[in-house]
Amino acid sequence: MTKRRLFLLILILALPLFLRAEGGKAKYVFYFIGDGMGINHVTLGEYWSAYNQGAWGSFPLNFSAFESIGFASSFSASNLITDSAAGGTALATGEKTNNGMLAIASDSTTILKSVATAASENGFRVGITTTVGLNHATPAAFYSHNINRENYYQIASEICTSNFEFFAGGGIIDYKGKHNYKKSIYKDIEKSGYTIAFGLDEYHQIMENRPEKLLMVQKDINVNSFTPALRATKKDMQQKDLISSAIEFLYTENGTGFFLMSESGMIDWFSHGNRGMEVAAEVLSLAEAVDVALGFYNEHPDETLIVITADHETGGLSLASESGYQIFFDKWTKDPASDSDAHIGWTTTSHSAANVPIFAVGVNSELFRGRMDNTDIPKKICEAMGITL
Ligand SMILES: [Zn+2]
Repeated sequence: MTKRRLFLLILILALPLFLRAEGGKAKYVFYFIGDGMGINHVTLGEYWSAYNQGAWGSFPLNFSAFESIGFASSFSASNLITDSAAGGTALATGEKTNNGMLAIASDSTTILKSVATAASENGFRVGITTTVGLNHATPAAFYSHNINRENYYQIASEICTSNFEFFAGGGIIDYKGKHNYKKSIYKDIEKSGYTIAFGLDEYHQIMENRPEKLLMVQKDINVNSFTPALRATKKDMQQKDLISSAIEFLYTENGTGFFLMSESGMIDWFSHGNRGMEVAAEVLSLAEAVDVALGFYNEHPDETLIVITADHETGGLSLASESGYQIFFDKWTKDPASDSDAHIGWTTTSHSAANVPIFAVGVNSELFRGRMDNTDIPKKICEAMGITL
């Protein structure tokens, strides 16, 4: 464990003892969603952290050491194994829907309101970030309504009417429509009042005259997801950059609060591919992003709530694939074929029905202890903020 991590951990554990504001409300909310991140994904990150530091055993990640831990069922209205659209809908709106559908009830007509919209209506500044496409299922469930998660162009057009202050992610999928014959959706987004930043350098330039609303994607308009954490270089945008820009953009001195949803989309993608080391690297990259949020939390400990959960588990990841009572990290490489040598097992290239973990710290984080349903999570976030969904 680095000194900074250790210091943060001690601070997290000690602060609530004397800084908890009685009956306080969450003014600043960070809602992290590790797409596909089951408890074993977190556990793998913990073991690998220890191994990388030459230690035996497992080191807690910053968020797995949070004071409030719970777990949630993740089934959808149509399937015991949810997809990211129905899972995102549950985590965003507090209602179950059918797989494939975004923030519309299973009757295919009732529009469901998200915690992000509720926050916006109650005067909070709102940010949505993801390491993949901004119109991919999980972020989309927070600002759009569609019976088909693959209607990417339509979904992205709802950014324009969202009224949210900040969007940042890998890109916009099908930004000229499915067959590239529509006008660039970036034009509509700009017209609706957003300043668009292609890459962090442009973002920093734009921030010299802070615009009212901002959307940031990567430099290359045709790339929709981040460079994976395992292969990223210093010049690649990472989730932690999204969190620090979001804080810079959303935080104001005038007393307005903010709600920030941040998705780690590639934990899911690499779990579909059964690529263990890529998955572990994405989980650790999420922990780095959480570190940035914790920096903010330490400055505003009695007004900040941080919640980390997942929409579902992907891959049926198991930390054993053979008998022998051992995991062999020394045999583990970037090559997914090495997962079986290391005894890291997968039962599917799809999602599973496993319950998902919840980790929370900060004001009203006790609400997230125990066993709940995924639909309870946004309701509890609203309760913590003192607003209704
Ligand atoms: Zn998935």
